[in-house]
Amino acid sequence: MTDFGLDNYLKLEAKQQPTWSDAQVLEQVKKDLSVQPPLVFAGEVDTLRERLAQAAIGKAFLLQGGDCAETFVDATADRIRNRIKTVLQMAVVLMYGSSLPVIKMGRMAGQFAKPRSSDFETRDGVTLPAYRGDAVNGYEFTEESRSNDARRLMQAYHTSSSTLNLIRAFTTGGFADLRQVHAWNKGFTDNPANKQYESIAGDIDRAMRFMEACGVDSAELRATEFFVSHEGLLFDYERPMTRIDSRTDTPYVTSGHFVWVGERTRQLDGAHLDFFSRVRNPLGVKLGPTTSVDDLKKIIEKLDPNQEPGRLTLISRMGAGKIREELPKLIEAAKETGSTPLWITDPMHGNGMTTANGYKSRRFEDVMDEVMGFFEVHRALGTHPGGLHVELTGDDVAECLGGSEMIDEATLAKRYESVCDPRLNHMQSLELAFLVAEQLVQTQRR
Ligand code: PEP
Ligand code: MN
Repeated sequence: MTDFGLDNYLKLEAKQQPTWSDAQVLEQVKKDLSVQPPLVFAGEVDTLRERLAQAAIGKAFLLQGGDCAETFVDATADRIRNRIKTVLQMAVVLMYGSSLPVIKMGRMAGQFAKPRSSDFETRDGVTLPAYRGDAVNGYEFTEESRSNDARRLMQAYHTSSSTLNLIRAFTTGGFADLRQVHAWNKGFTDNPANKQYESIAGDIDRAMRFMEACGVDSAELRATEFFVSHEGLLFDYERPMTRIDSRTDTPYVTSGHFVWVGERTRQLDGAHLDFFSRVRNPLGVKLGPTTSVDDLKKIIEKLDPNQEPGRLTLISRMGAGKIREELPKLIEAAKETGSTPLWITDPMHGNGMTTANGYKSRRFEDVMDEVMGFFEVHRALGTHPGGLHVELTGDDVAECLGGSEMIDEATLAKRYESVCDPRLNHMQSLELAFLVAEQLVQTQRR
């Protein structure tokens, strides 16, 4: 029996892998992980690929959102529910505006590992290993917490499992019923975006009552599909979670429906592209402003050799100042390969800045500007702006500057909770959804 070359990555350079404090513990954890039940079923993964294929040709839109880094302590019912609620509300805004199906996907139930630009962090003259996500070490700045403990991989599995269980319960058990559109907005202020949302919710209510009167009672209105995704980073987690599906005799990563390879690990001759090229899951690749046309063509050939719709999602994260200049040539290059990748925008990672009072932040206006640039470029080229990838939370944090609540630097000091990159809060997420909906409508009119 072939092993599909799944271990070929071992011969290649794997960037951003932790050095574990105990090699024996690691071996045991890998063994244990490899016999845990899969978190997702291959059939669901195939369904997602079909949905993404629709988005790639402009017949659906992907909304992918969640934490930069999930943490074990925040995997509570309240926080998970708030994030789902925010994603559902954004999806309603997008669907209502564009009349397109919206594919909902969380950066959830597995987003526990982070690539870092530096291996170490220094605070007040003390240097310790950098925080690499809860799957690797702790955020607390002590020697003990920052040591890389492989037992955390198992905890990441169990936390992903309980998170996904709640997601499935919420999205199929009545919470995501479209008759709940008003309830999702409860507890939020009467900010302009919330008011605008309430008006859409009122329209949807009337439409639902109309359909009920007509005798329509469709399962699609009572429940929703919701997929989960994370950065495919740690081989010591992803390899044991990769299984051969008995129906199709092909390998699937079963730690999530969708995985993406980050900007720091997408080297053409590196371990990540090699490993993920061998699994059936739909894949994403982040593309920063230094991506060359030549590299992109090779990435596409490697990950989508059969030019299969839905297989490959290209996530551009250029920065507001660069997208209009850098993206067009990449889209043209992708066209030349014959593949039809899904293009989505990540308006977060190219717009990082540090505030005068020392917070890692992003300006909401830069985020909006990059999204606008993304749509402008696609409209000019006649290609499809197929989705949005954002770091968000359903909670009322203050991590990104601006928005209608006009969050300023002083507010960051009061409500900054992220252990990694700054996230849009609930209100900023809704505002962004309204902007994207407007852009989608303009694109449809072109
Ligand atoms: C991320 O998505 O959190 C991330 C690290 O992104 P990128 O690889 O684009 O920098
Ligand atoms: Mn991030």
